[in-house]
Amino acid sequence: MDSNGQPRPSVTVSFEPRFCANHVVDLTAGCSFGCLYCPFAAVGARLRGVSRPTALDLSRLNELTPPPSVFLSPASDAFAPQAVESTHTLLSYLLSRGTTVGIVTKGIVPERTLALLADYRPQVEGVAVGVTSLDDHRNTVLEPGCPPARPRLDNIDRLADRGLPAALRLDPLFPVLDDRPGALTALVEEAARRGASAVTATYVFAWGRYLRRLRREPLVAESCRLLTERAPMEGGRAFSVPLARKLDTYGFLAEVASGHGLSFNTCGCKDLRVRESGLFSASCRNTWFLEERKEAVIRNAARRGQAPVAPLGLRAAPRS
Ligand code: SF4
Repeated sequence: MDSNGQPRPSVTVSFEPRFCANHVVDLTAGCSFGCLYCPFAAVGARLRGVSRPTALDLSRLNELTPPPSVFLSPASDAFAPQAVESTHTLLSYLLSRGTTVGIVTKGIVPERTLALLADYRPQVEGVAVGVTSLDDHRNTVLEPGCPPARPRLDNIDRLADRGLPAALRLDPLFPVLDDRPGALTALVEEAARRGASAVTATYVFAWGRYLRRLRREPLVAESCRLLTERAPMEGGRAFSVPLARKLDTYGFLAEVASGHGLSFNTCGCKDLRVRESGLFSASCRNTWFLEERKEAVIRNAARRGQAPVAPLGLRAAPRS
């Protein structure tokens, strides 16, 4: 029951082609981090019929079928305060049943969840830590419920110390506010120093009421004026910066990342033209991890004298 005595919607595992063809789980409907640019949390809340961020019901956990791989979380944050306990419970359940996990967060991973992930290291695809800027004022305005940038970045050290794959995720990048070369270089250098293995970045996109909400915030007024192109995305179109600016910035980031031994990728779902350009890895997933898993499946099958069964693939059909 929620605070109004209403039954809470249940946690579900679903397959989502737009998240690099992966299974996905939200632990909350809506998200208390309340990022100003985020359309997904509001959509997730609406779909589940709640009007404020609500922890989902995990009491029927044992009825969930563990998928081969899962992403946390498409429309919420696995380490928002309302989600953190459920996330640990869910991970314990799924990891012990062989599921591989990938996580993106702007929160803080608790010590005991880090220890759990370390116990199942071969099943951890990676944890991407969301920090687009070191500017506290920018982050307080745009990401009012999230912890400050430095404690978020500390996740990278703590993950790397345990041998877990960590990435820096700059998403969303606001033009002018976030994409100056000096600021991008400083962030990538910091991520590399802390032990990240990859950088991923995607420009902001918005439409309809979410774009109107952004336009009302003076801090991003200039950025919003640069969202002039209706970019083709998985599932529709949204306003974003011109393609040329994306390719320039992603090219710059890829070069800086490579100079520090880090790989770079961007989310191909958020601009199909970037994916089609073939200039960058356009999967948000840890492709190195997936290749390793694929080879292990093939090796094991060969050892058993069998054909490999549905190895993990990047944009393959559902892997359940
Ligand atoms: S943390 Fe993620 S899901 Fe939550 S409001 Fe921010 S962008 Fe949306």
